[in-house]
Amino acid sequence: MNENQLSKRLARVGELVPEQSRLADIGSDHAYLPVALVLQKKLDFAVAGEVVKGPYEAAQKQVRKNDLTDQITVRLADGLDAIEETDKITAVTICGMGGVLIRDILDAGWTNQRLQGNERLVLQPNIGEKPLRDWLTVHGYTIIEEDILEENNKIYEIIVAARQETRVAYSEKERLFGPILLKKQSPIFYKKWHGEVKQREAILAQLAKASGDQQVRMQQLEKEITEIQEVLSNES
Ligand code: SAM
Repeated sequence: MNENQLSKRLARVGELVPEQSRLADIGSDHAYLPVALVLQKKLDFAVAGEVVKGPYEAAQKQVRKNDLTDQITVRLADGLDAIEETDKITAVTICGMGGVLIRDILDAGWTNQRLQGNERLVLQPNIGEKPLRDWLTVHGYTIIEEDILEENNKIYEIIVAARQETRVAYSEKERLFGPILLKKQSPIFYKKWHGEVKQREAILAQLAKASGDQQVRMQQLEKEITEIQEVLSNES
């Protein structure tokens, strides 16, 4: 992967960023995504935020190498602290991290008002999508698009959210599977959830052999397996 050839995952994230957004890419690492989008002329302003010095320097180097220092500002900052009011950010991407970390970054940004609430969020959690959707629901976001894709034997979900006039109350099931992914029911979606059943069954087998009272955890896993199998029964 490089700024001219994004991974399939980041390329799809890029497609979901609205044209001419003012983008904040948080946890930007090499700044591949903002650099690629500016080179494609999809954007002409972006902030690349990084909390770790090494990736921050890599992002700076990438931006300089592509002669984009006028369009892309690289900031060493924790989460959404990379955003300043004068940036007038309209879209935020947070990709390649766990869903809980993405949720915590959004929550901190919400609390300290770096997040205004009117930005389009394009989020790509590697795992832990449910706690992220829980946060979005509680904070009045509507999930306006979702995608699921496979790359290098890993399955990734992408969630696009925005706050709209009418608030949607997502069910527990929608927050687990993704309201739009549930409707699309793509072959990769089924592949993911077959794998999730296998994982839960393996944990159940371990717990059955373990000492101590495992009843509560086992009942929870059994409940989840039943829920997933219900969804999988729709596979044609
Ligand atoms: N976004 C890129 C992608 O999807 O390919 C890079 C993903 S990389 C696995 C995660 C990056 O997020 C790391 O460079 C890490 O330093 C950064 N990161 C983790 N927590 C962060 C935070 N609170 N604020 C900013 N960056 C963070």
